[in-house]
Amino acid sequence: MRVAVIGAAGRMGQTVCAAVEGASDLELVARLDEGDDPRSLEGLADVAIEFTIPSQSEANVHALLDAGVAAVVGTTGWTEEALRRVREHAQRANGHAFIAPNFALSAVLAMRFAAMATPHFESVEVIELHHPNKVDAPSGTALHTARGIAAARAGLPAVPDATQEGFEARGMEIDGVRVHAVRLAGMVAHEEILLGNPGEVLTIRADSFDRSSFMPGVLLAARKVLSLPGLTVGLDALLD
Ligand code: NAD
Repeated sequence: MRVAVIGAAGRMGQTVCAAVEGASDLELVARLDEGDDPRSLEGLADVAIEFTIPSQSEANVHALLDAGVAAVVGTTGWTEEALRRVREHAQRANGHAFIAPNFALSAVLAMRFAAMATPHFESVEVIELHHPNKVDAPSGTALHTARGIAAARAGLPAVPDATQEGFEARGMEIDGVRVHAVRLAGMVAHEEILLGNPGEVLTIRADSFDRSSFMPGVLLAARKVLSLPGLTVGLDALLD
């Protein structure tokens, strides 16, 4: 399989290039970065792995769909509206796009466990912690986690919260779930889901200490994306 990397000069891009080069069934055919046109990959690559910046990622995916190249996207910051546009384009073009806010197995399982646990608890809040160079907040993973929790809490009473003032200290509300973002030197990518009942708390925590934690998921998506029609969101779609 011929693979291109977009955002190849970035932190994730460089790690992805090395992972692709280390995989015997994948061939790294192009490294693109800012200023390069993804349409130039037409006929050259089967799959492009995209780790760039939130403001550019959607345009890159549309360009890849136009070029007939399958897209595997790790860039975060996707809105529901942008996902809808890509879903429509992928269907129209008979193309393939895979977008995951987090390629780490620990994070994907934390999201799943949080959704499983949440109906059994009165309270739930999400805290994500990242390195200070991250440009979007809250993280795509935290948004995905909060939406999954909200869906699993459908029909349950609202999370109790007597706050009357100082709402800015209570984080962002995503579908009724409070999400807090910490930016701290020394962190890589971490997430905690706190679930509470009177007298007890369950903490689910996932830590990525190194970008290598994302590579098995990225390569799995690159290998599978051509067998998935249209747009697929989330690594859990690829796990049994
Ligand atoms: P980075 O700033 O190190 O790299 C981004 C790269 O994209 C840079 O080389 C930049 O020049 C390039 N770029 C910018 N605009 C471009 C364009 N239009 N076309 C091509 N290249 C362009 O950032 P990073 O730490 O590598 O993170 C990249 C993205 O991946 C972020 O959104 C981050 O949140 C996300 N991320 C996702 C996961 C996941 O598992 N899904 C894991 C880690 C990081």
